[in-house]
Formats: sequence, structure tokens, C-alpha cells
Amino acid sequence: MKCFQCNSEMKNTVETYHYKESGLENVYLENIDVYRCTCGEYYVSIPAVTELNTLIAINIINKKAFLTGSEIRYLRKNAGLSATDFAEFIGVNKSTLSRWENDKQTLDKSSDRMIRLFYLSFKGIPKEKMATFFNEVIKKISHNGRVININIPVDPLVPALQPNGC
Ligand SMILES: [Zn+2]
Repeated sequence: MKCFQCNSEMKNTVETYHYKESGLENVYLENIDVYRCTCGEYYVSIPAVTELNTLIAINIINKKAFLTGSEIRYLRKNAGLSATDFAEFIGVNKSTLSRWENDKQTLDKSSDRMIRLFYLSFKGIPKEKMATFFNEVIKKISHNGRVININIPVDPLVPALQPNGC
């Protein structure tokens, strides 16, 4: 692959990629093809982006610490909702939502659960994934949880890119 800045040949490596484009600081994708040029330019090939973004959302839903501002924003955007609509659906003022998303106000327990439950039902998440949330997560959510990195191996997602039957 040629660099689109300087036209040199780019070098292909398989890396663990810090997925900052997600808007989250703690998401890493494993086994990602990255093409790097000596001029500093790079190109990242991220397969199955839609499935990947949903998988990240499920990881957020299942974390045992309270949601952070950027995670709330991530879930809202992944649901394809504006701040106005999302605030209305979960029954809070838009200004409250804005304070949550910008880490200016901490969530209370019921709001944290409301956001997770809303996301799960709005996206029509399969029953098995809902069950994990109800059986293993919901009672353990607390303020004490640490922020943990989300590492996603991307290989298992690749078949999702293949057209059916091919
Ligand atoms: Zn270059």
C-alpha cells in the first residue's frame, strides 16, 4: 500500500491498536492490520466496525463500576440518538445528561442502571447477553470498580464481514 501523503511504500504490521476513534480512552483492539509510513502517516484497517462497536458497548454494559461520562456518550451515540432524544427517553433534563457525559456530575445508582437497561432494550440485544447482565452484573455495580481496559480480539469478528454463503 502506498502512502497517500508522500507516496512511499507503507509497512504493514499487526498491532494492538489503541482505538481512540471510539471516543473512549480504554479500548484496545488486538490483531489489527496497521500500515505505517516513515513520514508518520498511518492507515488502520478495522474490520466489522458495526459489530465491533456493539461489542464495545456490551463490554461497557457489563462493567461493574459506574459508567463514566465518555461511556454514557458512547452508548448514546451507538444507539444513534441525539442528546435531546436520549435525555427524553431516560427521563432526565438535557442539562443533567450533559453534566453526566462531561463528568461534571456523578450518576446515582438508578440512573446508571436505567441507562444500561435502556440501551439493552433499545438495541434489541439478544436474550443471552441480557441474561449475563441480569445474573452476573447488575447487583455488583458499584462506585468502587476500577477503570479497566477493554481489549477486543478482532479476529473472531472477521467472519461477520463475509457475505452469506461465500
Ligand atoms: Zn508517507
